[in-house]
Amino acid sequence: MRILILGAGVVGTTSAWYLAQAEHEVTVVDRQPVAGNETSFANGGQISVSHAEPWANPHVFRHLLRWLGREDAPLLWRWRADPAQLEWGLRFLRECLPGRTRHNIAAIVALALYSRRCLQALRHELALEYDHLERGILHIYTEAEEFSLATQAARVMREFGLDRDTVDVERCLAIEPALSGARHLLVGGDYTPSDESGDAHKFTRALAEKAAAAGVDFRFNLTVERIASEHGRISGVQVQGEGGTQLLQADAYVVALGSYSPHLLRPLGIRLPVYPAKGYSATLNLAEGTMAPSVSLTDDERKIVFSRFGNRLRVAGTAEFNGYNLDLNPVRCQALVERTRQLFPQLEFVGEPDYWCGLRPATPSNLPYVGRAGPDNLWLNTGHGTLGWTLSCGSAAALADMMSSRRPAPDFPFVGLPDRLRSR
Ligand SMILES: Cc1cc2nc3c(=O)[nH]c(=O)nc-3n(C[C@H](O)[C@H](O)[C@H](O)COP(=O)(O)OP(=O)(O)OC[C@H]3O[C@@H](n4cnc5c(N)ncnc54)[C@H](O)[C@@H]3O)c2cc1C
Repeated sequence: MRILILGAGVVGTTSAWYLAQAEHEVTVVDRQPVAGNETSFANGGQISVSHAEPWANPHVFRHLLRWLGREDAPLLWRWRADPAQLEWGLRFLRECLPGRTRHNIAAIVALALYSRRCLQALRHELALEYDHLERGILHIYTEAEEFSLATQAARVMREFGLDRDTVDVERCLAIEPALSGARHLLVGGDYTPSDESGDAHKFTRALAEKAAAAGVDFRFNLTVERIASEHGRISGVQVQGEGGTQLLQADAYVVALGSYSPHLLRPLGIRLPVYPAKGYSATLNLAEGTMAPSVSLTDDERKIVFSRFGNRLRVAGTAEFNGYNLDLNPVRCQALVERTRQLFPQLEFVGEPDYWCGLRPATPSNLPYVGRAGPDNLWLNTGHGTLGWTLSCGSAAALADMMSSRRPAPDFPFVGLPDRLRSR
């Protein structure tokens, strides 16, 4: 089958790889000059099954009230005259019900565990280099109440098969000695030894190279303007580039446009609740010999993660619901560096941090849309929110299975899955 993938972020690129492996003829279009240049560019670098608890959970209101009016709030909701934002917010409220949260954690853990196995297999098969570390992820807490709530979520994840262990402060320091300067702040943590970290952009670029060598046709610098439909099927995709406008045609089409997916789908009558959740990162060039973490860390209360890539430390996180705005807010940038100094007072870095922000394609439940959309030759792989890299290989492998009429492996609520392909 000839397949046209829209978007060459980590999700579009992994989709291209697995679809090509399933012997399809694959073309990928993207407006950027290279793969992984938008939200997949400078994220937190975690392969974190342990991050399966969505923002939509019964405790989120406590946090939102506490952070109200703070410019550096870990989650910041800016009201806009935007019906899409309001609709998304209402759906988010529904996902905060305890039963929904549990269902969402189960689904995310199932897809994320499968995805991590797919990534590991891919890394070994292709010898991909992306500063990866297999030292696990340690979640740390500085407030007793937050720690206690987190242990409840960790229990649910364990129930669904994740090796997430609750640990005391001494054990936190043994796992990551660079935290020793923050001993007085910590109340405990939990550790998932099987989680990993690495540079998602390097991963995406390296995989795109392998995919191109395997026959995938990447067409960069082309902006998708419209998805055309005729008689209930997609008939082509109109793109605009230096050479003007052209219509690209295939047998099937995959939308992997991250936060921009709803824009192209709305004219087809598909209203996808994907809304941009802006996050920030700061990349620090570490001074030689400085004591910096190498185990990837999650500071749950601040919604910040730390990942080590060779002599760089990536500090990333927080979320701001402010439409498609990509301005760098200096207060939110500074908050990342200040927290780094609090947790690692001995850490030294050289030069100025590289600041960046990106738009997570967030769904109210944090579950991505993977599967068939309305028209029968239109497929979705989008809405991966906080876990796009973590879920990318698994979503892509499952999509390739579905598009090849095979049953996808993980027990996950895929979209529009025919009954005969549902897991038993
Ligand atoms: C601060 C931050 C930290 C994060 N940390 C982590 C983490 O530690 N672990 C993790 O798993 N996830 C993390 N994420 C989430 C993860 O980065 C995203 O979920 C993931 O990058 C989304 O990938 P994507 O391919 O769907 O979107 P994108 O990477 O945005 O790809 C979409 C592609 O579509 C293209 N495109 C869009 N519109 C058009 C158009 N009209 N025409 C042509 N091309 C178009 C874009 O150029 C882009 O290349 C983080 C995100 C942020 C912001």
